[in-house]
Amino acid sequence: MTEDWPTLPLRTAPMAAESVDSWIEALARRYRLAPSLLLPALGLSTQGRSINRLVKGTSQEAWRRMEAAAGLPAGALQTVQLAGASLRTTLVGGGSRFCPRCLGENGGRWLVAWRSNWTVACTRHRLLLHDTCPSCTRTPRVYLPGGTTELPPGTCAYQPHRRAERCGTDLAAHSATTAHPAVLAVQTWIDDLHQAADHASDPEAAATLTDLPVVAYWLMAREEIDWQARAAELAFDRTPTQATPVNGRLPRLDAALVAGVLDLARTVLGPDHDAGVTALRDLPHGPARTGVMPAGMSIPRWHAMRGPFPNRFLRAVDPGLTAMDRLRFKSPTPAAEQPTSRGAAERGRLIPHLIWPDWAGRLLPVSGFHPDLFRATAATCLLIPGTSERANHTLPNRFNRRVTPAHVSVLLQGFGDLPAPTLDHVLTAFCRIATYLDTAGSPIDYQRRREQIPAHPLITWAQWRDLACAANSHPGESPRNGESSHGRYLHVKRHLLQLLTGADLGTPTHQFAFTRSGDRSTYADFTAKLTLPLRAALTAHAERILAELGIDEPATWSPPADLAQGLVLPGTDTTALDNDTIRRIVVDEQRTARDAAEALGVHIEHVRLALEHLDRPQRDWKPRALPVTWQRDQEMTQVATREFFAREYVLGRRTLNDLAAETGYHRALLAKAARANGITLKKGKAPVVDDPAWLRDQYYKQRKSTSEIAAEIGTTQMTVNRALHQFGFTPRPPGVHSTPQMMNRLDGRLSVDIRAAVDGGLKGWERLHRFQIAMAFPTLAAAAHHLGINPATLVTQFKRLEGDIGAALFHRSTSGKPQQPTKRGRKLLDYLTKEHILKHMAQSIPRHELAQLSGHEKAGASEQFPRPRRPISPFNNIAVTRLPITTAMLALLNDLLTHPDDQCYGALILTRIRRDPGNIYEQLKRLQAAGWITSRLEDDESWNSRATPGRGPGRRRTYYRLTPAGQDATLHETARLAAKPPRQRGKRKQDESKPAQHQ
Ligand SMILES: [Zn+2]
Ligand SMILES: [Zn+2]
Repeated sequence: MTEDWPTLPLRTAPMAAESVDSWIEALARRYRLAPSLLLPALGLSTQGRSINRLVKGTSQEAWRRMEAAAGLPAGALQTVQLAGASLRTTLVGGGSRFCPRCLGENGGRWLVAWRSNWTVACTRHRLLLHDTCPSCTRTPRVYLPGGTTELPPGTCAYQPHRRAERCGTDLAAHSATTAHPAVLAVQTWIDDLHQAADHASDPEAAATLTDLPVVAYWLMAREEIDWQARAAELAFDRTPTQATPVNGRLPRLDAALVAGVLDLARTVLGPDHDAGVTALRDLPHGPARTGVMPAGMSIPRWHAMRGPFPNRFLRAVDPGLTAMDRLRFKSPTPAAEQPTSRGAAERGRLIPHLIWPDWAGRLLPVSGFHPDLFRATAATCLLIPGTSERANHTLPNRFNRRVTPAHVSVLLQGFGDLPAPTLDHVLTAFCRIATYLDTAGSPIDYQRRREQIPAHPLITWAQWRDLACAANSHPGESPRNGESSHGRYLHVKRHLLQLLTGADLGTPTHQFAFTRSGDRSTYADFTAKLTLPLRAALTAHAERILAELGIDEPATWSPPADLAQGLVLPGTDTTALDNDTIRRIVVDEQRTARDAAEALGVHIEHVRLALEHLDRPQRDWKPRALPVTWQRDQEMTQVATREFFAREYVLGRRTLNDLAAETGYHRALLAKAARANGITLKKGKAPVVDDPAWLRDQYYKQRKSTSEIAAEIGTTQMTVNRALHQFGFTPRPPGVHSTPQMMNRLDGRLSVDIRAAVDGGLKGWERLHRFQIAMAFPTLAAAAHHLGINPATLVTQFKRLEGDIGAALFHRSTSGKPQQPTKRGRKLLDYLTKEHILKHMAQSIPRHELAQLSGHEKAGASEQFPRPRRPISPFNNIAVTRLPITTAMLALLNDLLTHPDDQCYGALILTRIRRDPGNIYEQLKRLQAAGWITSRLEDDESWNSRATPGRGPGRRRTYYRLTPAGQDATLHETARLAAKPPRQRGKRKQDESKPAQHQ
């Protein structure tokens, strides 16, 4: 198609970077025509006289047509075409600036770059460009000149309306203004950016050029900057133009004014990052902002910016932002950027619910923070960098339900309260970790683990027992049938879960959540005291769990420590703590982690974290403890097979005692093994001790304890005690004090029960003494509180005591009754006060402790039971006596409120409310006495109508009705209870809302 176009006979080649209108004009000059007359011959519309349209709006096809028509090789106009296309911001109103020297030297050819608002100088001639014709003061070259006359090169083509003559001023003869060095520098910068963006496809340069107009407008809108003065400095003889954008649009600006703006823009957007930030910070009133964006900039423009400006702006405004915004925009770090929200949800997969232990150590201040909530909140903080404001409100909650935005605020506030620059450095650490996760990722997908691992049984009791025993540690109590796991077994499950998923066990809905207040510290103690071999074994087990789930990841991981480089964080590097001191205090001196924390001036959590690395000596278990039993157990499975039992026990009719004597394994163990092998055991009489010689041998010669003897023959300790008594054997005093002398003196004087108690082990006397103290109190809880110990300790001790003695020693307290010793318990307590018994007790318990007994008793006596209730304040405007109202009572009252009185009698009410407020008739009587309700007896007619024929009417019903005042009181109590959160939830909330509580 282009070949069909008639070719013009005369040729003119375009100049490099020439504007297309200039080339057309030069060509037209050869034909002695006005340029617009040549348009049809070039295949262009005669309507296209706007030069800007010609430069930017000519189609690809038209360009090729022009080349063909002009007799040029295909692509000869390409440079002209591209230079026009890359023109970004053209001058307002169209037109071109110009360098008079250039026009004079190249025969009046115009460069396309002069049409850009951001071209202010000719770097070749070091001149400031002119904006207008000196004669007519018009901007030249808005339209392609028409008419019939040709134009001399480099003249002003302006033709006033309805006038025949053009201005015709020779622009090349215009006086030149030397460019200020700053102007030349600005021009070089702009030219380099164009070069990089258009020829080297440098995205950064392109982004800077795209952002340049936005930044320039924003700067120009700063009224506090005197642009006219700045422009005057660059060109003293200029004619001032308007600088303030009108309706957000650029006004017509002269080159000097633009140069002044660009001079500042160059510092703000230029290659020197710090200078850019400083320039923004040093603006007369600082970097004006609305929220966290430049004041006056439109949101879409701000969000569309891809150059260095957003980062530098955020860095500049950083000191004035809230901690939350600083975190969201990462403004304390060089990575400051506008939130995008795309990363945060994805990043959440890579973050455990509790921040990694080593980072917890670095970040946790020495005091003032609850360690678990701290770790949970700190982990949540890692989601915030780069999160939009809206996402920010919902994200923390969705990540870990325990942590609310308020927790995050309080935590950041807490860091802010520490001496500067702690907060800056902590925020920087959070941002660095988040950026690291976004860019380098993590080898662990915690989200997948959170989804898959809770469904895994983690570790069976047998696995744990074997693992613990193999590492020479005690596995704790085995869970009984149907009982949920507890004690060490529960703790080890928690440990595995936390190890693998970083689970936050403080979240109340969690499967293994801490249920009691002491739970967390017991667990923390357990993990802190894991020996290295056991820890390693558990990690290996965790790896097996991962393998079973098909997860090919390391068991644990944490972001590299060098992310903390150069930061002064409030915590401490737990791997660098003074391990010798920790070892001495916690391991050698058996003192608490808290003692070590105080000695080192760190948080107890720091010591716990450090203990994880410490090579602890292994605990020396007593011979009766499980590990040895376990070892024998392991060997036994080789011997006590099904064949063995079938041969010896079933066919050979031998007894278990017999087999026990032969194999050396305990009778009970054999019984268990037999049952496990499917052998039905013969039921026999409970073994009795009927051999005084054997008993004498066991008890005196072998010095076995009664419980050991009992275990040996498979009977209770009580039976053995009874036998000793029966045979008239002198009981041995306990433990270290068992000298023959003492035994003689004790002869017959110690009650059987005391003997049983102290024979059970060295702690027997202590248990008895504790029992003495506890019985002075109405409840175990009160006693434990007074002693400053865990009530569970007393429960365990007394269970053991009762087990050793073989009888109940006290009636447990109920809500209405204080605890009471049983008859047996009372007798025991009486014995304990006897002088000679006290003497024995004093050998196991320090005198000064015994001396405190009367003090304890006094404290116990002053303890009120039940705990006094706060008196209820009377209603001040309802005429009933106020009563304590439980929810069940309230249900009763509301039932009365919503039913007519002929449907309100005791039995019917009870079926409706489905719960008993505690003897409904009693309660109704109380309410009636207090003036809440009235009652009436069923009338005769109704009563008789209910009679079963031939049997009489039975009991008469009593109907109840709320009095008007009773109704008011009911409504009042309903509203009051509804406003009050359930007691437990309320309590937990209170604990959590104070993350700053001292642990
Ligand atoms: Zn020039
Ligand atoms: Zn003119």
